[in-house]
Amino acid sequence: MIDLHTHTNESDGTYTPFELVDAAMAAGLDALAISDHDTLAGYDQALPRAREKGLDLVCGIELSTKARGKTVHLLGYFLNNPPAPEFRGWLEEMQASRRDRNVRMAERLRSLGIDITIEEVQKRGRSLAGRPHFAKIMLEKGYVSTIQEAFDEYLDESAKGYVDRYEPELAYGIKRIGEAGGISSIAHPVRLGYRDPERLRGLVKEMAEAGLSALEVYHSDHNPSDVEQFLGLAREFHLGVTGGSDFHGDVKPGIRLGAGAGNLNIPRSVLDRLREIPPQAS
Ligand code: AMP
Ligand code: FE
Ligand code: FE
Ligand code: ZN
Repeated sequence: MIDLHTHTNESDGTYTPFELVDAAMAAGLDALAISDHDTLAGYDQALPRAREKGLDLVCGIELSTKARGKTVHLLGYFLNNPPAPEFRGWLEEMQASRRDRNVRMAERLRSLGIDITIEEVQKRGRSLAGRPHFAKIMLEKGYVSTIQEAFDEYLDESAKGYVDRYEPELAYGIKRIGEAGGISSIAHPVRLGYRDPERLRGLVKEMAEAGLSALEVYHSDHNPSDVEQFLGLAREFHLGVTGGSDFHGDVKPGIRLGAGAGNLNIPRSVLDRLREIPPQAS
């Protein structure tokens, strides 16, 4: 069993990189990818621990991009070599755009009567503070009674506290990951919320032409018919297949490493096949 989609406390997870490696060993995983939002800091810290424990650790990233006006999460995996240095520089630009957004979002929430400061948020977020950190603080202060309520009422893209930030176009994210020596995969396609399957097909076709390598077929949010649909798209457009639980630790208590929301159980062969994909031509 493997898990190619996990977060540490360097982004919005709650486990330290060390704890995540140990938890992966305890869960009996054959391989683990750390795919933090916009930062490689968790992977960098986990690497010595994974070597010591003999865990196959994959360098991953989850970028927030835009396609057709909506946020699309894009995974990148560096299966053979670490990403080129330019890529790390580009991630720093993403992080700066987040910090700027966070300042404006704290102001916006204060204008809605919520006592929250950017300092509090940044203290939680380490390399990268995101909306889940805002949600946790709002929960602790009693403004909402669940993390989900914080999103529904304030933080969701359609909610009153949301503030936009710069996000690169999906095709550009694909290009950057390819140029850095990685393979790209559209994360949890179900969350795009495209009700018409042809709409998703159109996007995948266009992105396959732009150099997309894979689709995240297996994910905690995908039901068996989603998996069927995405496998079909991967086959049609000659894309690879990735999968993972999207483990965030205690902020998403229903999601377990490797097992996801139940019995995700992704076989090692999924990673073996990814390793056969040549890095994107750029
Ligand atoms: P950010 O990167 O700061 O924009 O925050 C994005 C993260 O917030 C996602 O990775 C999810 O973990 C979480 N998130 C975004 N929208 C929602 C939502 N509607 N409900 C629950 N969690 C959400
Ligand atoms: Fe997240
Ligand atoms: Fe995501
Ligand atoms: Zn994720």
